[in-house]
Amino acid sequence: MLPLLNTRGALRGWREAASAPVVLVPTMGALHEGHAALIRTARQLAQPEGSVVVSIFVNPTQFGPGEDYSRYPRTLAADEALCRAAGADVIFQPEPASMYLPGHSVTVEESALSRGLCGAARPGHFRGVCTVVAKLFHLVQPETAVFGEKDYQQLAIIRRMVRDLDFPVRIVGHPTVREADGLALSSRNRYLTAAERTAAAGIPRTLEEARRRVEADPQIRVRSLEEWVASALAEATGGRVDYAAVVDAESLEPLEFFDRPARLAVAVHLGAARLIDNVALSTDNGAGGHSSGGKV
Ligand code: AMP
Repeated sequence: MLPLLNTRGALRGWREAASAPVVLVPTMGALHEGHAALIRTARQLAQPEGSVVVSIFVNPTQFGPGEDYSRYPRTLAADEALCRAAGADVIFQPEPASMYLPGHSVTVEESALSRGLCGAARPGHFRGVCTVVAKLFHLVQPETAVFGEKDYQQLAIIRRMVRDLDFPVRIVGHPTVREADGLALSSRNRYLTAAERTAAAGIPRTLEEARRRVEADPQIRVRSLEEWVASALAEATGGRVDYAAVVDAESLEPLEFFDRPARLAVAVHLGAARLIDNVALSTDNGAGGHSSGGKV
């Protein structure tokens, strides 16, 4: 069994004796092969002598009213086994009451990159994310933290927070890990019925087709590509498209033309799940760049 730390005090005690470098992988648990890939990368970055911490915390402040906080899957025994097999040294799994003291009133808010995409649909979500990640960085004091490109907006926002608030933490992004049919692994995929799960493969198929369209015609208007993606997603999945947007890969600002590195990001409501995915778009003028997402 890996050491399981449940309080901030226990973590602090562990941290004082931990050997450097310390590498952190923040998660909400219900771990799958995508998380395992992040933990294996953290193990490599930490070298054999360093320390890999996986935090498991379903952070209440990043869920909105009516979202899935209370039914979010909690699978600690399986998570422990996965963390151990992937090379973690310790799990930090605090109780909400241990992370948020009564009357807590200070938050971290990113005010530009958080506005669009998931930020528009989930008000306060990224405030919750930034606040909890800032707290984890202070508590764990990692040299490096690993985040997945699956949550591309989150990764960009964390990079901005670290830059703007001078956190001494290196952020490493990891390509999205996918099922054999392309669907991005997600703890929320288990909300899907068998039929919805089959239909969900229409998301990565549509992103891949969009990527090919831009490659074939770099002059294509962003707006017309977005419209095509939105209708192709609705048709392929039978779901309700929340957004299909092409943004600047770093600032996440809307684009008009493919004249710099771009990212296509989408969110689709399918049954009880809200699924997100994204892809790098590259054109002949050298913008973009492929991400080499792994399959499991
Ligand atoms: P979560 O537990 O969903 O909050 O995710 C914890 C971390 O794992 C985040 O940095 C996610 O971006 C990352 N992650 C989740 N799913 C995947 C995936 N399929 N591929 C790569 N990273 C992932």
